[in-house]
Amino acid sequence: MFFHVILTTDCNLQCRYCFGETMDDFDEDFGEFELDYSLPRKAEYPVEMLAEFCGKDADCVVTFYGGEPLLAADTMKQVMDTVKPKHFMIQTNGLLLDQLEPEYVNRFHTILVSIDGEEALTDYYRGKGTFRKVVDNLKLIKRNGFGGELIARVTVMEQTDIYKQIRWLLDNDEFKFTSVHWQLNAGFWGNDYARRDFKKWSEENYIPGVEKLARFWVDQMETQSTVLRLYPLLGIASSLLLDKEPSLLRCGGGWINYAIQTDGYIIPCPTMWGMKKYYLGHIAETNPVSLGKVFVNDAPCTECDILGVCGGRCLYANITKRWSNEAYAEVCNTVKGLVTTVEMELPRIKRLIRDGKVSLSDFEYLRYNGCEIIP
Ligand code: SF4
Ligand code: SF4
Repeated sequence: MFFHVILTTDCNLQCRYCFGETMDDFDEDFGEFELDYSLPRKAEYPVEMLAEFCGKDADCVVTFYGGEPLLAADTMKQVMDTVKPKHFMIQTNGLLLDQLEPEYVNRFHTILVSIDGEEALTDYYRGKGTFRKVVDNLKLIKRNGFGGELIARVTVMEQTDIYKQIRWLLDNDEFKFTSVHWQLNAGFWGNDYARRDFKKWSEENYIPGVEKLARFWVDQMETQSTVLRLYPLLGIASSLLLDKEPSLLRCGGGWINYAIQTDGYIIPCPTMWGMKKYYLGHIAETNPVSLGKVFVNDAPCTECDILGVCGGRCLYANITKRWSNEAYAEVCNTVKGLVTTVEMELPRIKRLIRDGKVSLSDFEYLRYNGCEIIP
């Protein structure tokens, strides 16, 4: 099992698509969900309790999460000194990576760092100076010997030209990423849809951009014998090439991927903190391998042609329904565009595998590593 350990709910940034939207959503209420607003700001259960919990699962993977988890670096280090999972990972905004000693940084199997593309765009979404600090820190951890996977975690919305920004992350003079995942800011907040033009942007910019990116991705296989780790494309191609069974929810939320709140209660996904109705038990008294499957698909996914590849709608979005059905249908349209795009490229990919340019194993990756695959 994979566990997002929420070390703190504090964050040292105020990004537009997160903090900014929270401000705009103040009047939204979660009525039926009975939110617990009194959660401690920092993890307050004994580290030994987490060690015992994780020790019951031979496949336990711990991903540090927040807020910004590096704001609780002392607790993080205690956990890394005490808990013995199969892997440690972290999802971070990267601003404090220089504060964590290399002996800890270099133990991460994977670091997912938030960066949205080139400097102007990243700073527009995440605040002035963010890009420079993050890039400097990434150069530093590389110099200090970090050899795990470093994934650029890109949040995408209307100001983003997906093709341009992902290409930039792969090839620029600042820091070249070899792994990129992107996530749409869509369907998470209540008040944003009305003032945005998601439909126009997704149809005229995003989907055509993804198509162009997929062609570039396969061109790279052909000319460079490289399968770039562009996770939404990689994950879907991997399923189409390797999987025999239909996929469940791609992020693993609520069936193989869970989160642990600062008070030690287990929830299906980190975004569901405080939603008491979905608490799955406390780490003090729960066996991780017997955690129940919370995630179940219902309409419209159950009637959707691509359910087996898509895996179904984000659990949080499905439960909270912050957008209307029509608005969610526009998000599904982007998923269909993405899946169709990869399917169209599949004959070419299969030919390149047959010709030995790339191999099937190039499409394998550690599943549920924090990349949701479906943006
Ligand atoms: S594309 Fe939409 S409707 Fe279809 S399975 Fe995915 S989330 Fe469900
Ligand atoms: S896709 Fe939805 S359910 Fe999955 S991790 Fe993200 S917010 Fe949670």
